[in-house]
Amino acid sequence: MTRLDGKVCLVTGSASGIGKRIAEVYAANGGKVVIADLKLDAAQATATEISNAGGDAFAVAMDVTDEAQVDRGVADAIAHYGRIDVLVSNAGIQIVNKITDFAFADWKKMLAIHLDGAFLTTRACLRDMEKRKAGGAIIYMGSVHSHEASKLKAPYVTAKHGLLGLARTVAKEAAEYGVRANVICPGFVRTPLVEKQIPEQAKELGISEDEVVRNVMLKGTVDGEFTTVDDVANVALFLAAFETNALTGQSLVVSHGWFMQ
Ligand code: NAD
Repeated sequence: MTRLDGKVCLVTGSASGIGKRIAEVYAANGGKVVIADLKLDAAQATATEISNAGGDAFAVAMDVTDEAQVDRGVADAIAHYGRIDVLVSNAGIQIVNKITDFAFADWKKMLAIHLDGAFLTTRACLRDMEKRKAGGAIIYMGSVHSHEASKLKAPYVTAKHGLLGLARTVAKEAAEYGVRANVICPGFVRTPLVEKQIPEQAKELGISEDEVVRNVMLKGTVDGEFTTVDDVANVALFLAAFETNALTGQSLVVSHGWFMQ
């Protein structure tokens, strides 16, 4: 149940971090992967790395907040591979600040990347899945912050909670076409997105960087460990390969026990 057998998998934000590892694991398990990222050079470099390792990958430039770019990127992927079977809506950024200091422009930027991006990519891929009636999987990259709040992260927590609502709605609307929608909710993973936050949070909270890691990021885990890109990619593989509507509208928390539901 963990082989993708030629399934076409479009992963947004896959030139770095979690998305990149998902694309690599999908390709290693027989998927054809579309590397969709803001940064075309980095997306092409990732696609080349995957091809050199024996996989099948195709890069498209896509700002997930831009309707025309999303529609064009998905159309290019369909022109190249013929269809989309799996969407992983993963692209994301983090901006931390107190609510009273948050610029409205930063709030809107966060919601645009996490929520507009999820909606636009879902709409474009689901149109293809509905037309073909051959099933499919849509996976959203949520977070423990889809269930839990933290100081300084108002738009991130708001957007990640919002993805649960989108996934549940897609699960209901798309079930008749055999399309499943689920959310993966990782704990802290040491990617560029998190490395950037460590000094920022240390400054905001007036504590050392080591204390941010130990007392903020990993405090609630069962073992003081970071979640890894492999942990998240293996769950993404399981969800992409799962074959029935039995597993839809769910969120799976992958966080070393930081959040238990
Ligand atoms: P990352 O910074 O390593 O990678 C993010 C990728 O998204 C980059 O390649 C970037 O170019 C791309 N991107 C940014 N804005 C984009 C846009 N508008 N359109 C298309 N691509 C865009 O980050 P990451 O840690 O791998 O995060 C990936 C996802 O995982 C995010 O949604 C993040 O919220 C989520 N997440 C991360 C963690 C963590 O601890 N790292 C935990 C939970 C959830």
